Amino acid sequence: MKCNIICNFATEKTQESKMQDINSSNIQKLESMISQARKIAVVTHQKPDGDAMGSCTALYHFLSLCGKDSIRIILNDRYPAYLDFIVSDIPDTDLLVFSERPLETGIILRDSDLIFCLDFNAFSRTDKLEPFLAGSKAEKVLIDHHLNPDRAAFDLSFSETDISSASELLYNVLMSTSIIAQNAENLPLKACTALMTGMTTDTNNFSNSTYPSTLLMASDLLAAGVDRDEIISRIYNQYGENRLRLLGHILKDLLVITDDGVAYIVLDRNTQKKYSVAEGDTEGFVNMPLSIAGVRMSILVKEDEGRIRVSIRSRRGTSANGCARQFFNGGGHENAAGGRLDVPKDIPGIEAAAEYIERHTHIYLNGDNE
Ligand code: 5GP
Ligand code: MN
Repeated sequence: MKCNIICNFATEKTQESKMQDINSSNIQKLESMISQARKIAVVTHQKPDGDAMGSCTALYHFLSLCGKDSIRIILNDRYPAYLDFIVSDIPDTDLLVFSERPLETGIILRDSDLIFCLDFNAFSRTDKLEPFLAGSKAEKVLIDHHLNPDRAAFDLSFSETDISSASELLYNVLMSTSIIAQNAENLPLKACTALMTGMTTDTNNFSNSTYPSTLLMASDLLAAGVDRDEIISRIYNQYGENRLRLLGHILKDLLVITDDGVAYIVLDRNTQKKYSVAEGDTEGFVNMPLSIAGVRMSILVKEDEGRIRVSIRSRRGTSANGCARQFFNGGGHENAAGGRLDVPKDIPGIEAAAEYIERHTHIYLNGDNE
């Protein structure tokens, strides 16, 4: 039997194959796992963003609604401060960061009997949580929208790539449960706010990955009472002056555009220190060069503590995911991906990043070394 959400899409031929994992058998399995679990952990990828925190927070409130009293969100590292507003109702005892409390979080993961994995496709994306997840005897549920999910690592998988965000996928999973019964008003308002936030950040406020299902979700969440103006203000209008000053410096002095139509920015530690860059301050920068005609791919390289992080965005017809997988030790979505450069395997240091990017994107886009 198909669940309601799929029946609703039956009029749209292109949508018929969407969200196949949301069927009555998987939903029943999920409901039975939840009702039998005593200790539940919710985890997401390292450096959690709006979608990661939005989906974890919404699931936390849903599980509370189901009567669960031992739910712990475990993060590899702390989320950016601008997301405080969605997690402010979760007590500190239920939201723990591995880098701050490694012993306690390790024990919680070890003792959990059900673990939800949200917004990532393989344990390696959780960094230091990976060995705990791989070694855990708990049942594991995946809810994710990335390419190439490692389904074999999970007891139950909800995976869909033609969707805006993990938050949108989770929304549809929750709507299909008997307690929510396809009525968003049955979801706690805090969960609705978190889901709207996650979808909004992953679509860059409806500028990419926006499907008919995304707008249906947004409409239902608005009708259920979500204050979207407040969310937009929290996400986009609370930055410090430093962020805009840094953006000015980047656009004037650091942005490079190659003959292949690759725009790239290398942000070293010194520049970040000079502009007091905090986690989340460079959010959105990598998308901006795609506004220039002829730019096919945009890359932001950021020197981080002990690692060099890479963000890649591409126009339709060029695969950011392919480039990330082939040359930047990463992956993600077709037009939004990420990865890292390893020192000294890939480059001797951040000063060699520009040459590496130019050489490898040239090979990637032209298929030769000239
Ligand atoms: P961002 O550039 O916003 O950090 O990431 C863009 C997308 O690429 C996200 O969906 C993210 O999950 C994915 N991504 C970022 N870093 C990595 C990585 O190191 N490995 C993989 N497989 N995906 C990544
Ligand atoms: Mn996501």
